[in-house]
Amino acid sequence: VTVEIDPGRFLSDLQALRRIGAFDGGVERLAFGADDRRAREWLLQRFRDAGLDAEIDGIGNVYGRWPGATRTVLTGSHSDTVPCGGWLDGALGVIASLEAVRAVREVGAPPGRGVDLVSFADEEGTFRGTLGSSVFSGEIGDRELDEARNSAGTPLRRALADAGWAGRELAQLDPERQRVFLELHVEQGPRLEAAGIQIGVVTTIVGIRRVAVSFDGRSDHAGTTPMAMRRDAGAAAIRFAARTLDAFERQRTEHTVWNIGSLTLRPGAGNVVSNRAEMLVEYRDATADALVSLHETVERIAREVAAEHGCPCKLRTTVDTSGVDMDPEVVSTIEAVAADAGAGSLRMPSGAGHDAMVLRRRIPAGMLFVPSRGGRSHDPAEDTDEADLVTGARVLARAVERLIAA
Ligand SMILES: [Zn+2]
Repeated sequence: VTVEIDPGRFLSDLQALRRIGAFDGGVERLAFGADDRRAREWLLQRFRDAGLDAEIDGIGNVYGRWPGATRTVLTGSHSDTVPCGGWLDGALGVIASLEAVRAVREVGAPPGRGVDLVSFADEEGTFRGTLGSSVFSGEIGDRELDEARNSAGTPLRRALADAGWAGRELAQLDPERQRVFLELHVEQGPRLEAAGIQIGVVTTIVGIRRVAVSFDGRSDHAGTTPMAMRRDAGAAAIRFAARTLDAFERQRTEHTVWNIGSLTLRPGAGNVVSNRAEMLVEYRDATADALVSLHETVERIAREVAAEHGCPCKLRTTVDTSGVDMDPEVVSTIEAVAADAGAGSLRMPSGAGHDAMVLRRRIPAGMLFVPSRGGRSHDPAEDTDEADLVTGARVLARAVERLIAA
């Protein structure tokens, strides 16, 4: 038997979830806010209707266990959004996984096997990125939860208490039970659409390095101080930035991306030479070697520019997550079921972080993508053709079925 999803039921639940927190075509469900809570209560009921033993746990994860199973495939994603977000980021994976559970129930799972379902809390980092999956997998504990706050300064503990979830038991990953994690997600980039391919098979979730770079100089009168006597931190920073961008362009791999998202000059006046410059340089790549070599470039250029301008440079790494490879057997399973379903597939890295990255550090995991129209995401313009949504849900359900039997 091959599982078959019910496209109408799947799409109508996806639209129902879209209405919770909807505005102008987009959706906003900030973690632990009123709409996120409403969405989780709604999902809880849906999980129970699908026959699962479901609860909202002490961190806000909606978690459903397949009754009577001792060995399961875990599938799901997240149902919170970024501010002014799109309707599919996270929601697609949760509803497609729900549909996979229903489809497997309809054909029946082998004895003792089943599908567990989850919508993780605060993947988007209103309080802390991949919060729910990190708690579920035991990667973070009480200390991190005590410290977490949103940008308004509200403690996570308060938000959990306001939601009525504080003090509840925490659902925990059990690698003896959950043998593998599967997540369907929108690509959030343009590659699949450009290639005309319906399914992206994620091979790796890229590593990220973010470095705070500062140059210290001396503030002087910008009219009277001869150029040769200046120690201009602003000029050093801008030269550093320009050389780094050129060097990255020369050494880039197929998957290298970078961003200088912040640059501040102090004291910040038109007639004063800058005595300090600060910037954030971020780069992502699919392999650890590539990240190391990008970082060596940053260090070398920083040294050179600091010497040329007489402005000492400091580098402080603020984010350093290593890339995570998806499980090779899960990757080939997704490819095989996509081919069986008549869908083209493309192996690709994910440039964004996901809950699957957290789970993968404990158990085998895999991810599949569907195309994003125009590559847009984290924006109300986020969208995917209905046929692609259905294909994604179908491939997910069949991959779940195949992995349950494995
Ligand atoms: Zn997401």
